[in-house]
Amino acid sequence: MDDAVDLAAVYTDLHANPELGFHETRTAALVAAQLSASGFDVTTGVGGTGVVGLLRNGDGPLVLLRADMDALPVEEKTGLPYASVARAITDSGMDVPVMHACGHDVHVTCLLGACAVLSADSSRWSGSLVAVFQPAEELGAGAQAMVDDGLFERFGRPAVVLGQHVAPLPAGIIGLRHGAAFAAADSLSIVLHGRGGHGSRPEASVDPVVMAAATVMRLQTIVSRELAGNDTAVLTIGSLHAGTAANIIPDRAELQLSIRTTGADVRTRVLAAVERIVRGEAVAAGAPHDPEITLGASFPAVVNDPGAASRTQPALEAASQMVVDPGLVTGSEDVGLLATAAGAPCVFWILGGADPASFNGATTVEEIAAKMLELPSNHSPMYAPQIVPTLDIGVAALVAAARKWLSER
Ligand SMILES: [Zn+2]
Ligand SMILES: [Zn+2]
Repeated sequence: MDDAVDLAAVYTDLHANPELGFHETRTAALVAAQLSASGFDVTTGVGGTGVVGLLRNGDGPLVLLRADMDALPVEEKTGLPYASVARAITDSGMDVPVMHACGHDVHVTCLLGACAVLSADSSRWSGSLVAVFQPAEELGAGAQAMVDDGLFERFGRPAVVLGQHVAPLPAGIIGLRHGAAFAAADSLSIVLHGRGGHGSRPEASVDPVVMAAATVMRLQTIVSRELAGNDTAVLTIGSLHAGTAANIIPDRAELQLSIRTTGADVRTRVLAAVERIVRGEAVAAGAPHDPEITLGASFPAVVNDPGAASRTQPALEAASQMVVDPGLVTGSEDVGLLATAAGAPCVFWILGGADPASFNGATTVEEIAAKMLELPSNHSPMYAPQIVPTLDIGVAALVAAARKWLSER
């Protein structure tokens, strides 16, 4: 591995000092310093806290490598010596714990390592590298913010967008799916209006708690009763709030939904069905006002261009023990938005980060998948990628994939 970057030191430093989306100032400063040391031209403050490193190395394609930088409001419970004890105040004023529970610290570390290797190696390739350190992936807003800040006008349109996400596959294994790889995600906020009153007098009220309960149950029929068996969608109501006391019928209930879909047609059908059911249940309950339905963060599906994935796959095979097809992931990522905005193909793979010893006895993809269900997943307070060999393989994968797209000297 390259001597210029002590990957484990960078990783544990980032892990112990996580920052929420659009607040990645310490992370951005660390990234900028490392990129400068590797000989990149560095621009900070792109799309808020984003950092762009540019390395021009003669004629040839422009290759974009992307890492996301933000952490999550999760209290770390891994017990690791470098575990986070950080807290932050959210934009809505809440005091929350902060943890790199999605492994974006792995992505940042590996991309810094890859930039150092490719820079040291520059006599062997020509072209240009643009290293994109993106803020606020978890908010579904960071990629769009960088595009809106002129990412491609200022630094050029890439021939390809490459990136990776760590997950509890065994370290050493890479997951690459050709075609639709990660689902689209939409967040919806819904306010149901009732008429508040005394808990003893339902006849003088319209109860939004019952309205919410009926709505929650009926929304579950969208996936089971309105979609074909081979359509993929997930509808989760992650938040439901109403009322303050046992003897008061409240005047409103609030729901928050997360919807995952893979095809544009399924997405359209699910969103339309949600609206129809929410409005229908409000009518059925005699609501005094129409419900309010607000679309929040939206992630398009990540689609790995089949031709570009085929071109990149041998590089990933050379950099890892094995490349598997992980199937369609119902998690979501905003990296696809960068590729779409650039008009470039996307190749985004899964980097194994779990202790291979946890997979003892598993040899087939199905057995590995079954073991994965027992391990802490991304966003868990127990999520703890293994440093060795994950970081080295993540660096090697980025370097090999980039070299596939750059010109050889
Ligand atoms: Zn995440
Ligand atoms: Zn993530």
